[in-house]
Amino acid sequence: MKKKFTHTLIFCMVACGLGYAFYRFYLKDTKTTEVSSPILSLTDKLHTLINNTSMKQEETIPVSSPAITEADFTISPITEEIKARINGKSYKADCTIPYEELRYLTLYYVDFNGVIQKGEMIVNKAIAQDVVEIFYALYTAKYPIEQMKLVDEFDADDEKSMAANNTSCFNYRTIAGTTRISNHAKGLAIDVNPLYNPYVRSNSAGETEVLPANGTPYVDRSQGFAYKIDTNDLCYQEFIKHGFSWGGAWNYSKDYQHFEKK
Ligand SMILES: [Zn+2]
Repeated sequence: MKKKFTHTLIFCMVACGLGYAFYRFYLKDTKTTEVSSPILSLTDKLHTLINNTSMKQEETIPVSSPAITEADFTISPITEEIKARINGKSYKADCTIPYEELRYLTLYYVDFNGVIQKGEMIVNKAIAQDVVEIFYALYTAKYPIEQMKLVDEFDADDEKSMAANNTSCFNYRTIAGTTRISNHAKGLAIDVNPLYNPYVRSNSAGETEVLPANGTPYVDRSQGFAYKIDTNDLCYQEFIKHGFSWGGAWNYSKDYQHFEKK
């Protein structure tokens, strides 16, 4: 009788031990020790697993894409404030383009130091949406652009703006050295990183002229260098995709910085 009792006691102790071990096994890693049901603890474990998985997915999203979306690339009419900035500069007294035909854009870009910058541009309303889509694609690809200010910040002096490698569009002016109205005057042409992508042409004396003058080291397009626009370049491809033509493909002169849509 006593032996049987001892066997029963040992059996109970082993059963309790196994039960406890089973209990601990399912509760291990769960946050609370108050859960008594193994089913509940399993549910908890599942939730923990799902939460951990979704957190891991978030962690793998590249932090290089901040909260700037295409919606931050804005198109606005020319306000009184903008008029005050451009009047008598890029918008000259004899300007034949009504303000209603122009739009002020806010565009983001990645500069030469890899830093996100807010740029601005005035363009013809006919190309405003194209320009937003092109520069959003360049932004997401981290295409380097040195600066993007209104040409008015350079007294509407095209040479000064180009020499500072400023990317811009609207400027009511003639084509340099001629009396013909430039497509920039209509807001239908954009110059990108102009210092590294100069305008090269022959003047009336048959001499080669480089605009801007400090872009001379970048006239030889057979050499490789940073910020060079050629047919393999993303900027070129985006503009062409949106129906623009490229000055680098002209026959009698080469304007490597220049994209226009007529
Ligand atoms: Zn141009």
